[in-house]
Amino acid sequence: MKNKPLKDLKQEFIRQNIKAVTFDIDGVIIPVGTFLRENIDGTELTIKTHKLSAKMLEMILELKKHFWVNFSSGRSLLYLQSMLNDILWDRVSLTAENGNFILMNGEVRQLAKYDQNYFQKLTNIRNDLKKLKAKKPEMVYGFEPKHVILTVHTASQMPEVKEIVKKHDKEKELYCLWTSEGYDIGHKKTNKNTALQYLVKKLKIKPKQMITTGNNQNDKEMLDFGIGVSVDPAQVSAPYAIQKKEGELGGEILAEYLLSAKKKYRKHMY
Ligand SMILES: [Mg+2]
Repeated sequence: MKNKPLKDLKQEFIRQNIKAVTFDIDGVIIPVGTFLRENIDGTELTIKTHKLSAKMLEMILELKKHFWVNFSSGRSLLYLQSMLNDILWDRVSLTAENGNFILMNGEVRQLAKYDQNYFQKLTNIRNDLKKLKAKKPEMVYGFEPKHVILTVHTASQMPEVKEIVKKHDKEKELYCLWTSEGYDIGHKKTNKNTALQYLVKKLKIKPKQMITTGNNQNDKEMLDFGIGVSVDPAQVSAPYAIQKKEGELGGEILAEYLLSAKKKYRKHMY
């Protein structure tokens, strides 16, 4: 059965088995919707995003006492570092660019290697997307700074973006995923799981000793890998789900639930 209510994930089970939790970022612990505008020659870039709530910040600091806390996102490592600044560095890892990078225990690692052809392909796609931006500046907002994937922000879905990728990717080795604010373009051999596999190995735990969260199709692999909790079951299914509600963040509800599992245990102990 899919998308069981969170209460079916027994607190006793959490206490006994769960060692780590992976939070997806956008739509899970912060609201979706990043504002990005780049000028036509790429010399000026404005990005506005959301902050973690004070309540979530506090809960993460508390969670770290009981679990390893990992964050997984399509965003760049630099961006995650600055956004999560207040809860770093102990017992936390950051995984960025859809599984391509991990920052843990003081070290940045690139988890998938690419050849120059791959980078050339991304450059060619980027150049064509720039031409599209010149033609439709009100539709194509610009690029988010990233190392090994390409992220273009658009006003809404644009078939032209997929066509440009198709034109340059004769080998069909790239994905081109709509993220509700633009497209992530990267190599199919890497996804968010690439980083999770590295993480569980480093932590010496089994995948099912980690709770994973997500809200989108690009979180599917991640939700299947650990004990998945979807926070938007209409978009992506998982063994467990938190129903999406206006003004609520599934990641906060999950954090509260995990903490309550640990708190009851303490009461029981004394
Ligand atoms: Mg997501």
